[in-house]
Amino acid sequence: MAEIVKNLLRKYKIRPSKRFGQNFLIDKIVLKKIVATANLQPRDIILEIGPGTGILTKELAKKVKKVIAIEKDPEMVKILQEATQDLKNVKIIQGDILELNPKRYNLKPKTYKVVANLPYYITSPVIRKFLELPKARPRIMVLMVQKEVAQRITAKPPNMNLLAVSVQFYAKPNIMSYVSKRSFWPQSKVDSAIIKIVPHKSALIGINYNLFFEIVRAGFSQPRKQLINNLSRLNFSSKNLGGQAKYLKIHRQKIKNWLLKNKIQPDQRAETLSIRDWLKLTGTFRL
Ligand code: SAH
Repeated sequence: MAEIVKNLLRKYKIRPSKRFGQNFLIDKIVLKKIVATANLQPRDIILEIGPGTGILTKELAKKVKKVIAIEKDPEMVKILQEATQDLKNVKIIQGDILELNPKRYNLKPKTYKVVANLPYYITSPVIRKFLELPKARPRIMVLMVQKEVAQRITAKPPNMNLLAVSVQFYAKPNIMSYVSKRSFWPQSKVDSAIIKIVPHKSALIGINYNLFFEIVRAGFSQPRKQLINNLSRLNFSSKNLGGQAKYLKIHRQKIKNWLLKNKIQPDQRAETLSIRDWLKLTGTFRL
């Protein structure tokens, strides 16, 4: 596979671009694992991000109804067009995934799957974009990500982090396989993992999303600090409490009661809380 990719680039006289984060997949077994994880069905519509030379695109196109491939690099688009010219079900769009509006391509909620081996520096914004889309969430996302990022996304209490909460609030992430840096050309600097992210069936009803994330962000604002300290930074509407010191004292006591009411100890750290704990805190925020 490495030779196919190298020859293609040679033919078009282009080099892998660092700016576009180009590390092409050259490992057939890994390719098969991505395809298997996506559990492709003949009726599927796939949104592929960063198709590059089309190695994965072609595998996907053989098995599904349609592949919409978004590629930012115009040089790659040329290669891709030739590589997929016989495949009538591939639609190539030149553009930046972070600027794309899924509605424009008629991608309706839960009808499509996102599959991508994409540059690592856009992993978090891409995941956030697709999970936060209120009315166009994909059915699943299968992504190649940096190994450490995969581990952070799938973390559990007592090792939670802001990224894990942000993803697990919307979806269930799983690491499907670890991937060596040698599976890419040019070889990447770090090892990778294939992750599957399955959005929850129904959105959480009655939850104030902004408040949820405000509380979570405050909780994690200083790593390894006790919740009582981090959450005391939250701003409440309490006014006319008199002097600053008195205000802070009352404020702290309120935070303490709020935590205890939810069976959370004030000296616990944010890393130990589950999504359910954060939801309870959001639901009982009446200070
Ligand atoms: N999926 C291919 C290529 C991986 S390299 C393979 O596995 O071989 C990452 C690809 O993402 C490159 O083709 C790069 O040009 C493209 N890319 C980088 N930033 C992008 C963005 N913002 N939107 C869409 N594609 C992007």
